[in-house]
Amino acid sequence: FFQRRSAFKLLEIDDKFKLLQPGYSVVDCGAAPGAWSQVAVQRVNSAGTGPDLPRGTVIGVDLLHIPPLDGAHFLSNHDVTDLATHGKLLELLPDGQAHVILSDMAPNASGFREMDHEKLIAMCLSLIDLAEKVLQPQGSLLCKYWDGKLAHKLQERLSSVFGSVRTVKPDASRKDSAERYFLARMYREPVK
Ligand code: SAM
Repeated sequence: FFQRRSAFKLLEIDDKFKLLQPGYSVVDCGAAPGAWSQVAVQRVNSAGTGPDLPRGTVIGVDLLHIPPLDGAHFLSNHDVTDLATHGKLLELLPDGQAHVILSDMAPNASGFREMDHEKLIAMCLSLIDLAEKVLQPQGSLLCKYWDGKLAHKLQERLSSVFGSVRTVKPDASRKDSAERYFLARMYREPVK
């Protein structure tokens, strides 16, 4: 069923940290071609396959087309960093709130490691703005980044609005890659 390597990374992280519970609302950023969304649909029961369990919501967003998936609502051809996308997510989420934001987003790699690193960090930072709009208090954010000199800056920004932030390198992630995930939990809304 889950054939892609990326699915195993999320399964592994979720088995360990139990981010996705039946009934939860999830935003999956950079969702194409849909492996993470498949995992999320199953774990939050958004297709209703567990009739006795609460039914969750999965909304995926990608610049690319995302093939339809039972239990998920997809915003294909949408940029996660775009404010108009934030507005649509607010409308689609039950009560305008998500329990979890997932991001496996990555820019098209230029081959210049430093530049790709900086680009991805900027994309991750924009997820903090999205969190401010849609993430419910105590919610979680899991985001992929490529390690490099700005990683600590992202970690600091996350730590300013989440009670707990840790780095995760799943076994399913290639050992020699700079790929890491920040798992930020216990969201507290920033003081305005
Ligand atoms: N998690 C997906 C899966 O399991 O099938 C794989 C995601 S793939 C590694 C990264 C995705 O991020 C690409 O499909 C890319 O189009 C998307 N992406 C990059 N920048 C984006 C942006 N600004 N907004 C939305 N999606 C973006």
